[in-house]
Amino acid sequence: MKIDKFVMSATNKKNVIEIIRTKGPIHKAEISRLLGLSLPTVMKFTDELEVSGAVKVIGKAESSGGKCPELLEFVSDAFYIVGVDVGRNAMKAVVMDLGGNITGKAIVKTGDDVNPEVTVARLIELIKTVIRKSKVPFDKLLGMGIGMPGILDAENGNVIFSPDFNWENIPLLEPLKKHFNLSQILINSNQAMAMGERWFGAGKQSDYFICINLGHGIGSAIVEKGEIYYGSCGSSGEVGHMTLEKDGPVCECGNHGCLEILASGNAIALQAQQAVHDGEESAMSQMANGQNSQIDAKIVFDAARENDKTAAQIINTAVEYIGIGIANYINLLDPDMIIINGGIVNAGDILLERLIPVIKERQMKFAGRKVKIKIGALGENATSMGAAAMILKEYINAGCNGKGIYRQTASHV
Ligand SMILES: [Zn+2]
Repeated sequence: MKIDKFVMSATNKKNVIEIIRTKGPIHKAEISRLLGLSLPTVMKFTDELEVSGAVKVIGKAESSGGKCPELLEFVSDAFYIVGVDVGRNAMKAVVMDLGGNITGKAIVKTGDDVNPEVTVARLIELIKTVIRKSKVPFDKLLGMGIGMPGILDAENGNVIFSPDFNWENIPLLEPLKKHFNLSQILINSNQAMAMGERWFGAGKQSDYFICINLGHGIGSAIVEKGEIYYGSCGSSGEVGHMTLEKDGPVCECGNHGCLEILASGNAIALQAQQAVHDGEESAMSQMANGQNSQIDAKIVFDAARENDKTAAQIINTAVEYIGIGIANYINLLDPDMIIINGGIVNAGDILLERLIPVIKERQMKFAGRKVKIKIGALGENATSMGAAAMILKEYINAGCNGKGIYRQTASHV
């Protein structure tokens, strides 16, 4: 088989960058040894990277005889990236450097009116605010990644269908481009969350993991060989719409008894509101200052932690469904890790201690033997950092040759 020399060279350069980024400070002979490349080949790439400012010499290593080799490091503050998490409850934005260090952060409530024009206007203001707060000069910004729930046409920057926002066929990147002359990438929120954990969080060492997003809804993303497994049209990972009760309540998607309608943050809140409305004894009403419609998943978790019987029962039932969903997932895909993240995780530290026994009980004997269940390391920043990481990935794929040479939108779906 004939291998294209140009493609091979680009791949080798990318591998050199990745070794320096993840294992640096490192010297050239060690890079050569780890990648199986000749020293002159490694030096050709590291010289180019030093010239472009993507890597720098930060000192010398101890010598075992002869000249002390120079230590190279990836330059994290060469550029900065904007990452946005467009959530149904809140929109969050960060500016981070290429090492995932956050230099600016902003958050705004999404609000009840999610008309696309209103939401996009709010999004533009949020991005302007986070750039201003970060104090990063505009010419140091490499691009922006937007994490959005739903099924997307990432190539053209459009939202095909987002049940959370009730949007169909809405152009999202086009209006943003009018305001920001930056490379932009649109990625599904759950997939962004998984990539955040993969690049900077709990999944750094794992090539096969599933990231579950337990929030207002329930979503997930599958990581295979370090990359998102998209499926044939990019809609993989919809674990929230796995049917668990054939005649169960009707879900937003139209199906009956989906995991999401039984156990999401929204479902937990609605079940608690209903229980209080039905006159069941509970401290939750008081905790919501008597306003039952204000009982949210956090209140239910807080009450369960205080041994409120009604709240504990709702949480236990929800956790059981979540555990069954995850056990099904493990049986099917045999991941080495399940990373759990999202609003429910932030609200309830009792989640994991109740969830693990359910998964163990429901998981098939000997299936998924390696799997570890972990809470995500990036908390509420996972989706925005992961969306930003997609720009970093494009930068590295393009050989770190500065701004403007890679595609304006992603073509990964
Ligand atoms: Zn559903």
